[in-house]
Amino acid sequence: VITLEGIASAHSHAFQRALRGRTQARIAGTGSFWSWRGLMYEVASTMAPDDLYDVSRLAFAELASLGVTAVGEFHYVHHQPGGAPYEERTLLSERVIAAALDAGLRITLLRVVYQRAGWGRPREAAQERFCDTDVEDALGDVESLLARWGSHPRVRIGLAPHSVRAVPRESLSACIDFARERNLPFHMHVGEQAREIRECLAEHGKRPLELLDELGALDPRFVAVHATHSLPSELARLGASRGFACICRSTERDLADGAPNLSQMVRSGVRLCLGADSHAQSDPFEEARAMELDERTRTGARPATLDAAGLMAASSTDGYASIGWAGAEKEDSVELDEGDLSWAGAPQSSADAFWSASGRAVRRVRVAGATIVEGGVPLGLSATLEGMRRVTARLG
Ligand SMILES: [Zn+2]
Repeated sequence: VITLEGIASAHSHAFQRALRGRTQARIAGTGSFWSWRGLMYEVASTMAPDDLYDVSRLAFAELASLGVTAVGEFHYVHHQPGGAPYEERTLLSERVIAAALDAGLRITLLRVVYQRAGWGRPREAAQERFCDTDVEDALGDVESLLARWGSHPRVRIGLAPHSVRAVPRESLSACIDFARERNLPFHMHVGEQAREIRECLAEHGKRPLELLDELGALDPRFVAVHATHSLPSELARLGASRGFACICRSTERDLADGAPNLSQMVRSGVRLCLGADSHAQSDPFEEARAMELDERTRTGARPATLDAAGLMAASSTDGYASIGWAGAEKEDSVELDEGDLSWAGAPQSSADAFWSASGRAVRRVRVAGATIVEGGVPLGLSATLEGMRRVTARLG
């Protein structure tokens, strides 16, 4: 048995697990990121609280079975269809946290702030569930979540303005101050799409990471999710602040986002972490090596930007630090079967696993002293599958 420390998936939208295999087929021939988003909105707009729990639990159980022990959930479905808050405003955040705890994971609930479709653009009907007109309402929800979960051994709370597109400048500043005062993990989608950068330049006269630097967002708690289209000069600012880029290659490929300049990130001192994002795929070993493999595809060379130890650091030490769990990876463990066919005959050490093993080699997973996967089977598998059957019956 080869034992690894805990593995983090630092950027997840668990409800999007319901889209797997559906959007990939349907956009064939004509689709773009924005048409994918339309389908994702259809699913988001019909989910009831129990659906959200059931889909999230499936997503988390699958991640656990493949070796993930901690998840950063970038959670943005907050309100009822149409946009009215639930009587308990944080109900949907609570349902997602419950799903992660029932699957045995650590979770950092990154409460998303979402206010507009874009600069000068009216909100779309499907976005009303995500939106808070007043940023203070969103920050009040973070206060409630901190009060309820602040001392739980497997829960952390963070703050996540969705993107420079969805949050205006004054609200961004309010979020930055709020997170700094409370020392919270601070995540944002940055530079996933070229269109976002064009719009940011039009509104602010600056690119996203330039704007965020000017507002004081960049520091060791800051995670730029994707940073696919960020320029070397922007990555230099991110690296100088000891911030993170969260790379989500399975999703970025699926959505035709392009590939990030990984070599430049590493040269600039940007710390890396990884995310299952849309759950198009969930294997953290494949997700890790995809960073390096896609850099080879992008450059047409074999630069070896990240060796096995680099892939492992992004998955474990830095992954945990990016979602506010620095050091806790040592309290968690992932045991791999040396005889698993995915890496039988390959060099076998903890770091080598990130080049050769797949998640199917995972036999036992332990989080904070409890076993959550045994013999490759996650906790509560039959209840998890039963929940997913209810959701597919409802969502079609
Ligand atoms: Zn995302």
